[in-house]
Amino acid sequence: MKTNQYSGFHKLTLEKRAQEVAEFASLSSEELDRIVKPGALPNEVADHCIENVIGTYQLPMGIAMNFVIDGQEKVIPMVVEEASIVAAASNAAKMARSRGGFHTSYTGNIMIAQVQVVDISNPYFACQEILHHKEEILSIANKKDPVLVKITGGAKDINVRVVDSIIGPMVVVHLIVDTGDAMGANAVNTMAEAVAPLIEQITGGTVKLRILSNLAIYRLARATATFDKEVIGGEDVVNGIIAAYAFAEADPFRAATSNKGIMNGMDPVVVATGNDWRGMEAAAHSYMYYKYGKYTSMTRWEKDINGNLTGSIELPMMVGLVGGATKIHPGTQVAIKILGVKTAEELARIIAAVGLAQNFAAMRALATDGIQKGHMKLHARNVATVAGAKGDVLEKVVAQMIAEKNINVEYAKELITQMT
Ligand code: NAD
Repeated sequence: MKTNQYSGFHKLTLEKRAQEVAEFASLSSEELDRIVKPGALPNEVADHCIENVIGTYQLPMGIAMNFVIDGQEKVIPMVVEEASIVAAASNAAKMARSRGGFHTSYTGNIMIAQVQVVDISNPYFACQEILHHKEEILSIANKKDPVLVKITGGAKDINVRVVDSIIGPMVVVHLIVDTGDAMGANAVNTMAEAVAPLIEQITGGTVKLRILSNLAIYRLARATATFDKEVIGGEDVVNGIIAAYAFAEADPFRAATSNKGIMNGMDPVVVATGNDWRGMEAAAHSYMYYKYGKYTSMTRWEKDINGNLTGSIELPMMVGLVGGATKIHPGTQVAIKILGVKTAEELARIIAAVGLAQNFAAMRALATDGIQKGHMKLHARNVATVAGAKGDVLEKVVAQMIAEKNINVEYAKELITQMT
């Protein structure tokens, strides 16, 4: 496979698809085995990942095709249980191609660790005192992570605020740390714990929490794309998507679902690469309130001067290529190789582009046929599989349930009995 514009990829057998992706990403047969072989995550590895392990649990890895991101063709591994996500992402990426695909940027691998200080009678004075000792605080933080300091410089700055709370004012110190190619939660938590005694000494207060903030406002990934109005179905479709976006922008009930659709794209890449999807989600949702003062759509949809649809997204993206589970799970490094990324920045930018693509796909479906039409076949396939259909019978059961618009497990079982 020389290009990710592969007509009929979905019609290939699983084995053939895997071979094509292996060729595209130059995977060795050993690397390919780490994602195609059942039991690729050995129990002994799993046992060291989390506590009280009793086994492992597999999810499908699908490949989203057609993506052009910053001029490069990308194939995107997505690990997820929900039908239609991979197909929708591939379709959106295909439609973005005629206008150059996705363009992205990133603000840097900068994380924030918080240190909460209470029992201070003069919090504003304490803030200034803390700032007088900035270099000393940074030096203590950096002693904790010589590896990171060597790579990025580690802790670079501090911010100090007085936060009013129901138990009175508290001083909150932010340690600003460049965590390089690591997501960095452990790294910054360790630093926050290390500086606590000095901060107590400076302020005379009591340090309570020492933990990162998932609201990573200095670690933003952005993506934009233009969708040609003719390619996506004409002016009505553009207007329909903008009306759908206006709804999500204005109404948190709609925004929650629209943003879930964005997570449909981003989570599977975060999971495939062994990253912390809860951290990424917490960051994305909280950033809406931080940036807009309300819970709202994570994407913006507008028309350009020629009536084409333009989409944009900006979210905190705390993902890494080292640390956490990224090097423990045998499949994650293969996913990273398939993506062809060498830095956390490249990964973050791709994830933002996939989120934008996924949102476009959902908005377009909602603005045209409604979401169920596209979902129907995949849903019917799941239902037929649950009912026990296989091979030819599966295909026939799916076709009949769709034709009769009667998709449920009981009916699928009835059809299987009739057909076998
Ligand atoms: P980590 O501590 O395992 O690895 C990071 C370390 O790797 C760095 O401190 C550095 O010493 C070293 N390193 C080697 N090469 C590096 C490079 N090129 N760039 C940067 N560092 C390099 O992991 P982490 O990334 O600090 O923490 C991630 C883990 O923390 C995840 O498992 C996450 O689930 C978990 N976590 C998340 C939260 C949260 O989101 N709120 C809170 C606590 C823990």
